[in-house]
Amino acid sequence: MRIVSKIAAMQELARRWKQAGTRIGLVPTMGCLHAGHLSLVQHARRAVGKRGAVVVSIYVNPTQFGANEDFSKYPRDLKRDLKLCRDAGVDFVFTPSDKEMYPRWGEATDEPAREDARPTKKYSTYVVEEELSQNMEGAARPAHFRGVTTVVAKLFHLVQPDMAVFGQKDFQQAAIVKRMVADLNFPVKIIVAPTVRETDGLAMSSRNKYLDSHLRRQATVLWCAIQVARVTVKKTNVFPAARLKAAVKKLVECEPDAKLDYVEFFEPETLAPVAKVKAGTQMALAVFVGKTRLIDNAQL
Ligand code: AMP
Repeated sequence: MRIVSKIAAMQELARRWKQAGTRIGLVPTMGCLHAGHLSLVQHARRAVGKRGAVVVSIYVNPTQFGANEDFSKYPRDLKRDLKLCRDAGVDFVFTPSDKEMYPRWGEATDEPAREDARPTKKYSTYVVEEELSQNMEGAARPAHFRGVTTVVAKLFHLVQPDMAVFGQKDFQQAAIVKRMVADLNFPVKIIVAPTVRETDGLAMSSRNKYLDSHLRRQATVLWCAIQVARVTVKKTNVFPAARLKAAVKKLVECEPDAKLDYVEFFEPETLAPVAKVKAGTQMALAVFVGKTRLIDNAQL
């Protein structure tokens, strides 16, 4: 397995792969890898075949975190991640630096303009999806998806994958990436892989590391809420979304440290909210468990 941290080296590799006709599968991650990420690696391997190149990017992308979010304390353990990638049969790990990914990003721009000053330098080019990113995570985390689409577009340019694998765990993100690929004509096939869960149903997430045992137990309430919604739909066939939202809020907030951020019922293709929930409706929710914000989703 080769570790590539320089952008120029990544571009050169991608150029050579293209020339040789090697199929490339990319799995973008923020590291702190778990079995969910490794399942995406297996999907990538199946898609590119034995002779293809599986690339995992490990990059905690600063532009997708809000000012009050957990960018600086996001768990990082590159040594462990590299071992997991090696064991999973990854060919290349791409670990770029902030300095290279976002030249000039974060430099002060508020200095008074002087006639002899050089032009103010600041990272200033973003990719913005304007429809699917309006509600749910987009409403709760302004600029989050702008950061996601920007970094994914950059990774696609740098790695030149034939296909890229994303997790259903971040359902809205996968929908937005698919839309970006369609709208901007990226020649990349997007594969969406199912959510990998702990045995008690909690969706695997790097952020589960923040939970102590008391909070970890309460975190199962997201999966519980999904099960309750499923049973309701099975029993009633059609159920008003507003009433189901109220029931989910009540259920979640039975846990002493859990607070519902949002729950939404929507069409899986368009992400359009529905007034009536039935079989096939997609459900997504975000819950603070203590200070940790967890998300989950499923088709009912
Ligand atoms: P992250 O490192 O959290 O940015 O996630 C990188 C990729 O892994 C994204 O496409 C996620 O949707 C996916 N992913 C995260 N958790 C899971 C999971 N439990 N099961 C499947 N995919 C996941």
